[in-house]
Amino acid sequence: MPSDDTKTPIAPGATIGILGGGQLGRMTALAAANLGYRCHIFCQSTDEPAAQIADRVTIADFADAGALDAFTVDIDVATAEFENVPMAALERIARQTPIHPSPSVQAIAQNRLLEKRFANKLGIATAPFRAVSDAKALSSAIVEIGTPAILKTVRFGYDGKGQVNIDAGTDSSQAWINSGAGPDTCGGVLEGFVDFQLEISVIVARASNGEIAAFVPVENRHRNHILNETIIPAAIPETTATAAHDVAIRLCEGLGVVGLLTVEMFVTADESVLVNEIAPRPHNSGHWSIDAGRTSQYEQLVRAICGLPLGDPTRRCDAVMKNLIGNEVESWRDEISDPRACLHLYGKTEIRPGRKMGHVTRLGAPFND
Ligand code: AMP
Repeated sequence: MPSDDTKTPIAPGATIGILGGGQLGRMTALAAANLGYRCHIFCQSTDEPAAQIADRVTIADFADAGALDAFTVDIDVATAEFENVPMAALERIARQTPIHPSPSVQAIAQNRLLEKRFANKLGIATAPFRAVSDAKALSSAIVEIGTPAILKTVRFGYDGKGQVNIDAGTDSSQAWINSGAGPDTCGGVLEGFVDFQLEISVIVARASNGEIAAFVPVENRHRNHILNETIIPAAIPETTATAAHDVAIRLCEGLGVVGLLTVEMFVTADESVLVNEIAPRPHNSGHWSIDAGRTSQYEQLVRAICGLPLGDPTRRCDAVMKNLIGNEVESWRDEISDPRACLHLYGKTEIRPGRKMGHVTRLGAPFND
């Protein structure tokens, strides 16, 4: 039976199981190690960024029940470093050990329609949207939502994959085919195009006793649909920052998240805040917190899922985080000689266009405490 982790902290020395072997898992494992925890990574290759630095690694498919059970027996608590861990694997682990955030939170975050409906049910605004199941439904949805609009797959879309821009002249049959939406993606969702002023995100940590700590809203600048830079903090009025915090905290509490919830939002010209999507895990836009925060998002996740008090989410200085994408990683020699640049490389051997190879956080002047 899962232990009653609301009462007993999982003390340092225990093992945290991380589903997924990417850079978010790597940085979580490094933070866990700083607090004396061990990590066991469940992923697909020994060369993945988290597997390279972890105490133990299981290389297996998420459909391999035997491998999942052996992994579960070895760990004291589990978490996931990416959204699309199959629900059956999450539920299997949850029957045997605590897993945070819970499978019910993951089920909503894996599905764009469910997450938008959940936000709207709490009275939180999103872009207008319609569920679409085929080209005919898309054509009617375009009439209802108007153009410009964006067609996205309901599941498995990231970094702009599975997205098609829809204009007045767009052929809906072709757009449907181009999006790749179908039964495997649970269909598509047509969203009204938001003419945003900027994109921001807020990362919230929540412990099982309800304690909450939110990081400052940051601005995210994308290039080719991939996060390029994060500006800390976002240059938004205090009232907008408060509204963004409020939205993120309400979603986190409404979902009952234990761990981290990242909420990506659009800020419109009139300073309204609209939720774009949520991720119940550490986020690329929170990397800055390792070097410029008093507690990193990764340490905060470890604290939350192990039942420890949350850390101080405030920052020591302003900062700019730049992802090193594809061959931008070759700038590492310049970055490492800059005393205010904190370089993080993920150990990926193959450079590919669009692949996140590392990041650099440039620190502003330290605040006077
Ligand atoms: P997503 O995969 O939903 O995070 O979308 C990737 C990027 O596409 C976002 O970061 C925005 O830059 C842009 N985008 C997504 N949805 C919309 C929308 N409804 N209106 C305008 N831009 C959008």
